[in-house]
Order: sequence, then structure tokens, then C-alpha cells
Amino acid sequence: MKIVVCIKQVPDTKGGVKFNPDGTLDRAAMLAIMNPDDKAGLEAALRIKEQTGAEVTVLTMGLPKADDVLREAMAMGADNAILVTDRVLGGADTWATSTTIAGALRNIDYDLIITGRQAIDGDTAQVGPQIAEHLQLPVISYAADIKVEGDSVVVKRQYEDRYHMVKAQMPCLITALSELNVPRYMTPGGIFDAYDKEVTVWGRADLKDVDDSNLGLKGSPTKIAKASDKVRKGAGEKVALDPTESVNYIMSKLTEKHII
Ligand SMILES: Cc1cc2nc3c(=O)[nH]c(=O)nc-3n(C[C@H](O)[C@H](O)[C@H](O)COP(=O)(O)OP(=O)(O)OC[C@H]3O[C@@H](n4cnc5c(N)ncnc54)[C@H](O)[C@@H]3O)c2cc1C
Repeated sequence: MKIVVCIKQVPDTKGGVKFNPDGTLDRAAMLAIMNPDDKAGLEAALRIKEQTGAEVTVLTMGLPKADDVLREAMAMGADNAILVTDRVLGGADTWATSTTIAGALRNIDYDLIITGRQAIDGDTAQVGPQIAEHLQLPVISYAADIKVEGDSVVVKRQYEDRYHMVKAQMPCLITALSELNVPRYMTPGGIFDAYDKEVTVWGRADLKDVDDSNLGLKGSPTKIAKASDKVRKGAGEKVALDPTESVNYIMSKLTEKHII
């Protein structure tokens, strides 16, 4: 069985988001990490590998420094790593990103593709289902549990207040929730081995059945005009009053602030 996990290198937004004067993310000023949902997806793939002997390949599209998340993935236990990087692919929106990743995936065998539900920077949750569409694969999103049964996968698909058990024949694509599991740490031995292993590097020329008009900034129907950090509101005021007093208090505040 062959599993491919799409992992994205993202800025660690926990330390606050930094922007360039033109409104784009200042990625150089922020720590780069593996996207949390993707790490849970990778952990799920490694557990299937332990049960079935599957081969796990990780793939990322990004700047050359995205090589770091591939090494981290191999130090966790991934067998192979592919970096898709090329200047002409820069500035891609989700359409151009998924087109690029699908073009790379057409070069390799896979039974199961796992992506994260969403990346913590773009936050669109679009790339996974878009890849499945490009490759004409069934997709199961929001996976909270994944089991392999013969040539099929059985997925616990999470909703806010309930979940569905969904079964799909492979090849198919699953988007993973970070709640899926607690990813393992890299092992010291794994880190050493990971830096001895080769990362396959592909560029635009290696992408299969894709058109230049769908790649990079030029091929992106969506242009990010400006991104800004959310305005952090104060803690707010806590009052302990009985119901009647609470209503009067709120009404007086709403009046005071000319809301009513
Ligand atoms: C603040 C901000 C807002 C944005 N808004 C939009 C928007 O509204 N529309 C739009 O089209 N683009 C938008 N973008 C651009 C978008 O981030 C990029 O196109 C990005 O490459 C993919 O979208 P995403 O980050 O939302 O990923 P998601 O769709 O949230 O990612 C889902 C999963 O796909 C896989 N994946 C995503 N990117 C890669 C990658 N480079 N390599 C490997 N696997 C990957 C990962 O497994 C990931 O968990 C925005 C970017 C920023 C920084």
C-alpha cells in the first residue's frame, strides 16, 4: 500500500502574525513549522504503515527552505520526500496550488492521499478537496479516525455535534483534523537518518498534465489584496448580578454606548 501525505510549511502564528508593508505575510520574521493538521495526517499514515507495512511519501510545494518540514517528516518515519519548488509557482492561490500538487502526484503511485483539513495561514480548507477533484478521486474530509479495511478506508467524519462513519474504496483522498491523534516526536536516530536521506526535488517541468495558465501568481484567479491581523479585543467585563439586575445593567450599557 502506498500513502502520500501533503504537508505545508506554515508560519507559527502562535507567536503573533507579522506582515510586510505590502500586506503579505512576513514569513522570514516568523518561525516556520509543519502545519498541525498535516502532522496529524502524517501520524495517521505512520500508524497505518505500522499495521500494514505501507510505504509513506511526504510531498510539499514551497520555497527551498520547505525542505525542513520534509526532513522533520522523515525523522518521524516517512520513507520518501518530494519538494516541489520553482519560482514560476510562487504567489499561488488555492487553485494554482492544488493544480501544482495534482501535477506532481500524477507522477507517483498512491492508494491513499492524506492532506490536512486546513493550513493555519491561508485557512481556506480548499486545497485537499481541489486535489481530489483534479485527480477524480473520492474525498472524505474532516477525518477524526481512519481505519484500513482491505482495499477500502473507513473514516469517522466529524461534524460539530455528531459524526458519520464513511467508507470509500481506494484510491481516495482524506483531509485530516489535528484532533485525529497526538503525533509522535522525531527520534534522535530518525533526525540523523533524515539528514542522510535524499529529498526528490521537482520543478515546473516535472508536473504532469498541467497548463501554465493555471500555475503561480499568473494562474491564480484569487489575488490577496491585503491581509491583516485580527484586532484583539479586551477581556471584557464580568459582572455577577441576578437576572433582573443583569438585564437592567446590559440595557444601561447599551444605552450608554448609543447602541440602542
Ligand atoms: C492570509 C491569507 C489568506 C488567503 N486567502 C486565500 C483565499 O481566500 N483564496 C485563495 O485561493 N488563496 C488564499 N490564500 C493563498 C493560499 O494560502 C495559498 O494558495 C496556499 O498555498 C493554499 O491555501 P491554504 O493555505 O488555504 O491551504 P488549505 O486549503 O487550508 O490547505 C489544506 C491542506 O492542503 C495541503 N496543502 C496546502 N498547501 C500546500 C502546499 N503548499 N504544499 C503541500 N500541501 C499543501 C495541506 O495538507 C493542507 O493542510 C491566502 C493566503 C494567506 C496567507
